[in-house]
Amino acid sequence: MKAIQIEATGGPEVLHLADLPIPEPGPGQVLIRVEAVGVNYIEIYFRKGVYKATMPLIPGSEASGTVEKLGHGVTGFDEGDLVASVSVLGSYAEYALVPAAQLIKVPSRLTPEQAAAAMLQGMTAHYLAYSTYPLKAGETALVHAAAGGVGLLLTQMASRLGARVIATVSTKEKAELAQEAGAKDVILYTEQDFEVEVKRLTGGKGVDVVYDSVGKTTFDKSLNCLRPRGLLALFGASSGPVPPLDLIQLSSKGSLYITRPTLWHYVATRTELEWRAGKVLDWAATGELKLRTEHMYPLAEAAQAQTDMEGRKTTGKILLEP
Ligand code: NDP
Repeated sequence: MKAIQIEATGGPEVLHLADLPIPEPGPGQVLIRVEAVGVNYIEIYFRKGVYKATMPLIPGSEASGTVEKLGHGVTGFDEGDLVASVSVLGSYAEYALVPAAQLIKVPSRLTPEQAAAAMLQGMTAHYLAYSTYPLKAGETALVHAAAGGVGLLLTQMASRLGARVIATVSTKEKAELAQEAGAKDVILYTEQDFEVEVKRLTGGKGVDVVYDSVGKTTFDKSLNCLRPRGLLALFGASSGPVPPLDLIQLSSKGSLYITRPTLWHYVATRTELEWRAGKVLDWAATGELKLRTEHMYPLAEAAQAQTDMEGRKTTGKILLEP
């Protein structure tokens, strides 16, 4: 099978196409024929060595595909089922193994591309808006990088919950997308001081929650945008990791809360995984959640896909097609 492999950490050039044997499913595993691969920022961190991985590595954890072969003891799935997962063991490939406990059946109304586009970023948006800081109607949320993969989905979910979304993006084109997704106000944080703008837009009150995936370049000002006892959910580091924080700042800035959440702790049980995936896939199927999948690349062009993502050239979901 064709697969993207990395032998050492580095720039996008370390992602190369390899010919590898199709893996055999072990006990509790399912072999899927991959139809669409979801590209996520975390693969860039692994490729660069920010997060550690054993080499050689087939990157990627998100994909949709059809069940090809069941490992010993697997029940509940049949060959030919359309399935998706965020826990694929190397999804940048034509075939991949998935623990059956992490596999979700895809509703028949969804295409494989839609399923791969919805799962990881959709469940991330879901846990942020429904669990980390359960948004209520009338509250205000600041969503950074709101035209990105998670950003567009989070903006839609927060708006549908009745919250006012103040979005930040880098370009006018991205601003339009954030607005279409439901953002009431959009700040071009590359041109305007978002802290000043947020204070102006909230009449000095500040926002109830900041969903910050940008990290290094936004973190300090994100804290300054919160109302007293507001919450900062720092869930990514697209611009780089944030430096250590002196906790006394949380006191002086208004008895603030801060959390550094990750999806895996919000889908840790089968019940929670089925709940979040079920919601997200169902909303995608009914059109309540609009998916943006205009960035599709052949598997062999994985390096270009990551280059474009890192270069802030993409909006919504990036997919690879084997
Ligand atoms: P995005 O599609 O959001 O891409 C990243 C975006 O970040 C860019 O488009 C860009 O938007 C913005 N950005 C701001 N500064 C920079 C910079 N210096 N370099 C690159 N990008 C920058 O990616 P995803 O939706 O896949 O992921 C968003 C973030 O959320 C990532 O940091 C990812 O690791 C994290 N994440 C965390 C999860 C969790 O559970 N903790 C789960 C999923 C994702 P703009 O041009 O508008 O500034």
